[in-house]
Amino acid sequence: MATHVEGRKMFLAGEWVDGTQWIDVIDPQDGALIDRVPAATKEDMEACIRKAQEGARIAARMPVVDRMRIIGKAADYISSNTEHYARTIAKESSKTIREARKEVGRAVETLRLSAEEARRITGETIPFDQSPGGIGKVGYYRRFPLGIIGAITPFNDPLNLVAHKVGPAIASGNAIIVKPATVTPLSALLLAQAFSHAGLPEKILSVITGRGGEIGDVLVEHPAVRMISFTGGAETGIEIIKKAGLKKVGMELGSNSPVIVLKDADLEEAVASSVSGAFWAAGQNCLGVQRVYIEDRVFDSFKQQFIEQTERYIVGDKQSELTDMGPLITENEAKRVEGLVQEALDKGATLETGGERDGAFYPPTVLSDVPGDCTLAAEEIFGPVVLLYSVKNLDEAIEQANAVDYGLHAGIFTKNLNHAHRAIEELEVGGVMINDSSDFRIDAMPFGGVKQSGLGREGVKFAIQEMTDTKVICFKLA
Ligand code: NAP
Repeated sequence: MATHVEGRKMFLAGEWVDGTQWIDVIDPQDGALIDRVPAATKEDMEACIRKAQEGARIAARMPVVDRMRIIGKAADYISSNTEHYARTIAKESSKTIREARKEVGRAVETLRLSAEEARRITGETIPFDQSPGGIGKVGYYRRFPLGIIGAITPFNDPLNLVAHKVGPAIASGNAIIVKPATVTPLSALLLAQAFSHAGLPEKILSVITGRGGEIGDVLVEHPAVRMISFTGGAETGIEIIKKAGLKKVGMELGSNSPVIVLKDADLEEAVASSVSGAFWAAGQNCLGVQRVYIEDRVFDSFKQQFIEQTERYIVGDKQSELTDMGPLITENEAKRVEGLVQEALDKGATLETGGERDGAFYPPTVLSDVPGDCTLAAEEIFGPVVLLYSVKNLDEAIEQANAVDYGLHAGIFTKNLNHAHRAIEELEVGGVMINDSSDFRIDAMPFGGVKQSGLGREGVKFAIQEMTDTKVICFKLA
């Protein structure tokens, strides 16, 4: 069956709605106009929240068996239209068609997990009589939906990161309003189409297209919205927290992930995994490998192999099966990355390979000798640039890895169990990957960061915890 985006319409509480103003959706590799979507107004967002208040009551009353069936049907619909979904991702975002197909597969898995987890939202009995005041009382606690979830999502995984909010929200009986990134709204609208096809009752889901700076505040500040589930940059996240008031916030933010390579590591594996982790989605990946700390004895060999593999990358047309890496999301983003690399070179860094921008394309780039006072030594690059450092030992590697304000994932390559355990204990991150790069995630695991990388956890089961409240029920016996 062929799918199509209801062109130029957004999904407002179950209805496909036109706008009065428009946003052009552009293919970043050649500037071609792909489509136009409504630029929602504040009034649109207010109307959406009003309808979602009714939607929240409908969602909470929906039996688990229906939630499971509808989410499962949406997953099936996406799965049977994988190529259309993947082509859309590969047009509006900077992912290649091979990367886009993987994302569609992940989104289907995220939804299937959500359907499964719906049946596992349980409570437990409470032994009230452990306290003198509780004698003669029996009861339990259960988890209840919060009501309305406001979801704000970024451009780099325009389908699966939306599925990570919509699946758990519906599984746990909430209504949800999604505000996708302005540059990649089509994949989120296609997700809405899957739920519409699956028979989700109206008013439970909205995908409202518009600029975060214009309509974001209405969603974030509205008292009826009980949680803001945000994925994006730390600066935006902090701004949202300041405005949200007394409601839950889930923050999935950025990082500049470290990987440690010790002298006993399988170098071939460490190189292949770190190269792939550095340049997936043109480095626009919250888990992307940014800083590699290599024990000095194996530094030269690691560096040589790393550069060789990097130079084999095919950069170009996203729709070609042969392409390994596409452009950045906009030419301005490529210019931002170019500027950060130039700053490092001006301060004495060595350019090992890459470094020449062509419009929105920036090649896979490797730097060494990057001084600590460069912006890219401390901040998230969010582009295809990786920094190689030689370190004396594990102590120095851990100290350097922790010397930033972020902490999402880290990787360590070693065959020494004691060293791996030290890394687990001491690295300040939300996940440590042993003999893998920082760029590893499955959709069922708890996912999130520490420090400026975030608050709370996603991963379907864990998102459901965040999107529900416990309620205690206590019977006083006669
Ligand atoms: P961004 O600029 O922070 O934007 C994210 C979302 O926030 C967009 O939908 C944006 O809307 C919206 N927004 C912007 N200003 C807002 C405001 N004042 N109020 C409400 N919403 C507002 O991030 P991005 O450039 O799209 O994505 C890149 C960042 O996301 C990186 O830092 C990356 O590491 C992070 N990320 C984290 C994870 C994770 O799971 N930890 C996953 C992926 C990405 P507009 O598009 O309309 O501006």
